[in-house]
Amino acid sequence: MSEETSPVILVHGGAWEIPEEAHAAHIEGCRRAAEAGLAALESGGSALDAVETAVRLMEDDPTFDAGRGSFLNAAGEVELDAIIMDGRDLNLGAVAAVQRVRNPVSLARLVMTESEHAFLVGPGAESFAREHGMPICPPWELLVGRELERWKAFQAGDAPPAPAFFTPHGTVGAVALDREGNLAAATSTGGTPNKLPGRVGDSPLVGCGAYADNRSAAASATGEGEALMKIVACKTACDLVARGLSPQQAAEQVIALLAERTRGHGGLILLDPQGRFGIAHNTSYIAYAIATSGGSVRAGIRYP
Ligand code: ASP
Repeated sequence: MSEETSPVILVHGGAWEIPEEAHAAHIEGCRRAAEAGLAALESGGSALDAVETAVRLMEDDPTFDAGRGSFLNAAGEVELDAIIMDGRDLNLGAVAAVQRVRNPVSLARLVMTESEHAFLVGPGAESFAREHGMPICPPWELLVGRELERWKAFQAGDAPPAPAFFTPHGTVGAVALDREGNLAAATSTGGTPNKLPGRVGDSPLVGCGAYADNRSAAASATGEGEALMKIVACKTACDLVARGLSPQQAAEQVIALLAERTRGHGGLILLDPQGRFGIAHNTSYIAYAIATSGGSVRAGIRYP
């Protein structure tokens, strides 16, 4: 019988200037997600099941900019983006600019498994969800008062101009390693506050917002999408692991590259097939949690 790998799941809840009063909710949200992902892994679930489970929980948690609680665009609408990727065969599914789906990560998985395509957007993605029995929700179900107030401030011109990394970024993501040694990654986001309708960031773009390959690593990114996509952050990080860097070294190198080449800000989580992980960011904070076999969970807010 082949030896089993020890399962690991690592999640993030965004990298930005997380206000102190929101630290506890971010830590708790990440902890719950990692615990649920680990439970899936320990009951024999795949890495894909684990990242979907963890990201769904964070999409349902209004603390984060994903699913319910997401930022509104300039037209006052929620537009959600997500991706999921399987490190076994590089299969992936992604959706962008969906407005009526509570759990875009599950829709991304449905695109991966039930369509001949990899990426669906807007009304087409929502029709696909409906045809496959996924519940469609009225857009207001995804809206929370905090975001309505933020949107009103933007419309009134009251939102203070701030360096991009001070503006909220609560994207969520997860990377996991299952007992069979397979890796998976997922990322989900409401994008950036007051974005133009139709704007898509790095999150659902393969290699930018997430990547997973059993031969190298699994990665999920967060931060300024327009910058992260320029360096194809997650694929770049996985390639560095394939070239022999540890996940921590690779994550740090990608964030250094982000700063040097784009002056952008963001964060990255990375996990390799041995269960070694890395977390790096050039923002004030990143919220994360890691759960390993036996139920050990560490959650926190990391400083640079
Ligand atoms: N990367 C996301 C985007 O640009 C935002 C974030 O990570 O918070 O849409």
